[in-house]
Amino acid sequence: MLRGLGHEAVEVRKPKQLAGLAGLIIPGGESTTIGKLAVEYGLMDPLRAFAAERPIWGTCAGAIFLAGDAHRDQPLLGLMDITVVRNAFGRQVDSFEINLDVPALPAAPGEGARPFHAVFIRAPLIERVGPGVEVLARLPNNGIVAARQGRLLATSFHPELSGDDRFHRLFAGLAASSV
Ligand code: GLN
Repeated sequence: MLRGLGHEAVEVRKPKQLAGLAGLIIPGGESTTIGKLAVEYGLMDPLRAFAAERPIWGTCAGAIFLAGDAHRDQPLLGLMDITVVRNAFGRQVDSFEINLDVPALPAAPGEGARPFHAVFIRAPLIERVGPGVEVLARLPNNGIVAARQGRLLATSFHPELSGDDRFHRLFAGLAASSV
């Protein structure tokens, strides 16, 4: 998605690979595993230091990893003042897709506002946001599924899977303004 927007994209596994990056996306997967590996590879403090200067976007498990609280004992970056509930919609078979209104998204050239088709895969719910956190999207039942705290972005779903690049453009804008 980033390359499609004309950006250079590299994979990060070690702290030194953060040097020179304009922003970081922490992808989906399994947040306990991501946390354990981040501890093992000495990434926790370098990621926190990175967040002091550059944007970070966590999708799904990545959003959990950014959170301050996930109701469980697992390594979390604690960068965002949000509480998440893991697997809030049930098991893998309860994964779903839904159109969301996300007013903060940039409109595509020549286009008005339109919903964002979001793919939820064993997704977390953002249960609580602190005072400095802006809610970007809610489900029809009001559950929070996207939030922003300054240069930090959290989405419960996987915006890389629906072919709609507006979240990536929003994040690239944050990255461009932080350099
Ligand atoms: N269920 C995973 C977790 O709790 C997240 C799933 C995902 O990233 N798609 O960490």
